[in-house]
Order: sequence, then C-alpha cells, then structure tokens
Amino acid sequence: MISVAIDGPAGAGKSTIAKLAAKKLNFIYVDTGALYRTLGLAGAESKADIHDDSQLERLLQSSRVELKYSGSEQRVLLNGEDVSERIRSSEMGAAASEISAIPRVREHLLDMQRDMAKSNNVIMDGRDIGTVVLPNADVKIFLTASPECRAKRRLRDLEAKGEAVDYDEVLQMIIKRDYQDSHRETAPLKPADDSILIDTTELNLEQSADKIISVIAERTGIKI
Ligand code: C5P
Repeated sequence: MISVAIDGPAGAGKSTIAKLAAKKLNFIYVDTGALYRTLGLAGAESKADIHDDSQLERLLQSSRVELKYSGSEQRVLLNGEDVSERIRSSEMGAAASEISAIPRVREHLLDMQRDMAKSNNVIMDGRDIGTVVLPNADVKIFLTASPECRAKRRLRDLEAKGEAVDYDEVLQMIIKRDYQDSHRETAPLKPADDSILIDTTELNLEQSADKIISVIAERTGIKI
C-alpha cells in the first residue's frame, strides 16, 4: 500500500488539491479534519464540557464516527447520520480546533486513521499525518500559502456556502487557528523533517495538484 501524507495550515488548499490528486491516482482521499469537525459537532450538540474528563469520555463513547467512500469521495457519518455538509461551517472549524487540542481525542482517532492506510492507497490530509499518524508514509508533503492568500480562498469558500463573512474577520480567524494548531502541546502543526515543502501562494489549484502528483510519482515510481 502507498500512503501520502499532506499536512499544512487551514486554507492552504489541502483538501481540494488532495482530492484532485487522489482522483487522478485512483487513491482514497482521507480528510482527517472531518473527523475532528464531527467530534466538534457532537460536542456542540451534546453541550458536554469537553474539558471535563468523564464528560469527554462519555461523549467519545457515544459518538460513532465513520468514513464512507463512493469512488474517491469521502462522506462522514455521526451515529449513522451523514454530517458531511453540516461540519463545513467556520463554527465547526473552531469547535474542531478546540477539541483536537485534547490528547485523549487525538488518541481516540488514531487507530481509525492508521487502519485506513493499512488497507488502501491513501492521500491523507491533516496537521500531524507525516509526524504522528503515518510517520512511515511513502511521501510527506507540507502544503502552505501566505495567510492573506489563504484568507482570500477561505472567504470564497464560505461565501459560496452562503455564510456572510468579511475578509479581516477571516484573516484573523486564520491567524488565530494557525497559532492554536502550531502551539498546542500534542501533535502541533509542523513539517515532518522528511517532508517536501510546497508553497501554493502563487499557484492555482490545477498547478498545485499537478505539482503534488509529480512529486508523488517521482517518489513512488507510480506511472501517471
Ligand atoms: O482541516 P480542517 O480545517 O477541516 O481541520 C479543522 C481543525 O481540526 C484544524 O484547525 C485542526 O485544529 C484540527 N485538525 C487536527 N489534526 C488533523 C486535522 C485537523 O488537529 N489531522
């Protein structure tokens, strides 16, 4: 099995680019942020205090998170309900960022992520895939772009979903999320020592995906 880890900050284009690359290579695309977003949603719905150990444990045990695939498209289910769209709001992004900083939560989702890579060729995107989840991944990519560029892209995505937001608000949210994700104690966002850094500030989606595909082909010997 071949595994490709793509890590990087929010809004670098990881999911769109990884999805395109997975489709082209016929790999499964695993969006691990969706798992944390789903637990963020479960926490918000239950109104549990996630910083209380026993309430958190109850929440984790009563929240069945599953990934389903049709082709290379991922859907995420919470206790059987498809929540793929509901978890995409900026509110759920913030809830994911908060819950994902808790070590017990990361441990809870670890085996599920590793199992996906045991039985499938995967492109897995997240924050700690190359450093923690799949330290032996065949290819590790750290995808980034300037905060301003990421804010513009996020703004476009959120507007397309009908969320009313302004640029400065989105930029501040990105800067805050970068800080939280890279300064937490457990699995902070940082490039693995053996990762390849790709900056997409000056690249469009097609160019970014092509670049990643050529890196994957070069490193794994896959013919494309
Ligand atoms: O990638 P996405 O924006 O959907 O992730 C939402 C949040 O989930 C991130 O800001 C981060 O805090 C957390 N996350 C994580 N580890 C991952 C994927 C996401 O901590 N592997």
